[in-house]
Amino acid sequence: MRLKGKVALITGGGSGIGKSTALLFAQEGAAVAVNDVSAESGEETAREIRQAGGEAVFLQADVTDDGKVAAMVERALKAFGAIDVLFNNAGISGVGAVHETSEELWDRVVAVNLKGVFLPSRHVLPHMMERRAGSIINMSSCIAEIGLMRRAAYAATKGAVLALTKSMQVDYAPYNIRVNALLPGTILTPFVEQYLQTSYDNPDEALAAIRKRQLTGELGRPEDVAKAALFLASDESRLMMGSPLYIDSGVVFG
Ligand code: NAD
Repeated sequence: MRLKGKVALITGGGSGIGKSTALLFAQEGAAVAVNDVSAESGEETAREIRQAGGEAVFLQADVTDDGKVAAMVERALKAFGAIDVLFNNAGISGVGAVHETSEELWDRVVAVNLKGVFLPSRHVLPHMMERRAGSIINMSSCIAEIGLMRRAAYAATKGAVLALTKSMQVDYAPYNIRVNALLPGTILTPFVEQYLQTSYDNPDEALAAIRKRQLTGELGRPEDVAKAALFLASDESRLMMGSPLYIDSGVVFG
């Protein structure tokens, strides 16, 4: 068991990559505090973990709300006594080139994808600093490094998360806290399905075009990203600091 005795807080744990990671971390021995804005799906993830014999609590909070995030972190600490791993995973899509993006959409994407990394980190870090231990995993995307059409707000946030990760790493390395970023390519989750349905007249054709960009023609699964998160959460990655970890079927290099 690679996370035996550890406690992980995972934002956006009700679906897709967050859910898959919550289940994997629990299998590997971690107690998991599952956050989501959606009570139904987040509670379901925690229930599945408990049914499989693991330890989990569900903590509902919108990661853009400072007061709710503070309460979430307090409740996680009360439930499990510590937080060893913070996975800032919650995120939303947002489609459009700059001229097509409303101010409202821009603000919401920035709030969830960027402030939603800042706020949980802000509240968990004092605890990790006190214990002089911790691993923070921030969800970026391969879009931080390559141009993809009509993803202006989303790309801006994921690039910013990568920069924030490096900045955090420098600040918190003296406290023995590691901060790394995940850069997935296209992973088949509800997030991508919704993106395809709402952005293209022919979603199947769009999916085929995305497949073509993968060096192997294969799209990722949530489990592929969960395994990378497990590596960053565990002590096996102890020398990885401020690193971007690609899980993208070579899209960045293709
Ligand atoms: P998903 O939609 O399946 O899951 C995202 C979860 O986040 C949902 O359960 C949702 O309710 C939750 N969430 C949304 N807003 C929230 C908020 N304000 N507060 C708390 N929870 C909130 O998506 P996914 O594909 O699993 O994506 C997870 C992360 O991975 C996102 O940050 C996304 O940008 C990133 N990512 C996904 C892909 C991909 O291809 N799927 C690629 C690169 C990066």
